[in-house]
Amino acid sequence: MDAQHWRLGDCFFCKSPTADYFCEVCETDFFKHKPRCPVCASINQSGLICGDCLQKPPAFDNTFVITDYAYPVDRYIQSLKYHDRPEFILHCAQLLANRLKQQVFHLPDTLVPVPLHRSRQRQRGYNQSQILAKQLSRLLGVTMHDKDIVRTRKTVPQTDLALERRKKNVKNAFQMIGKPNVEHIAIIDDVITSGSTVDEIARLYKRSGCKEIEVWAIAKTVDE
Ligand SMILES: [Zn+2]
Ligand SMILES: [Zn+2]
Repeated sequence: MDAQHWRLGDCFFCKSPTADYFCEVCETDFFKHKPRCPVCASINQSGLICGDCLQKPPAFDNTFVITDYAYPVDRYIQSLKYHDRPEFILHCAQLLANRLKQQVFHLPDTLVPVPLHRSRQRQRGYNQSQILAKQLSRLLGVTMHDKDIVRTRKTVPQTDLALERRKKNVKNAFQMIGKPNVEHIAIIDDVITSGSTVDEIARLYKRSGCKEIEVWAIAKTVDE
């Protein structure tokens, strides 16, 4: 189950023939709906706002994900980033758009992908969050804005760090360079870890007058 041994026409997960990147059986198995905290998307049997979010509300209002960042979906997401398979985002974008259409009734004005630092984008050749945002923009008919914030500091990937270090890692890592005139946005990322990255961006948008901020991502890490 890795990108090197995967070929078009095979399900990434179980290798059965499929017209997509993974088959319907694996889609049902690995992208099941789970009750989550509506604010941070951590798994929560009650489906109510979790203690952490009640105690320290983040700058964003809610988070929407379609799966956990856990085996085997983590392999799939790592492949799109580290084995140069940006096309793997397409199937996830479609799934995410379908779920959003079912559950979100009030779509945002614009989608804001989490920016990569210039040097990392040059190295990778693309920004996976931007590709995801572009697809969602097309599928949902919502505009995308990727010119208002920049990543001013190169940071270590959040998934490599312990919780305490994640906040420090992204502190002041972004800068608002545009003048966004938006009331309701969705910040787009591939994986949400502690939420510190999107919280930094949400803070900048709130300061610029944005009232409602959602976070949309493919997956959320578990066991914080
Ligand atoms: Zn499969
Ligand atoms: Zn929460």
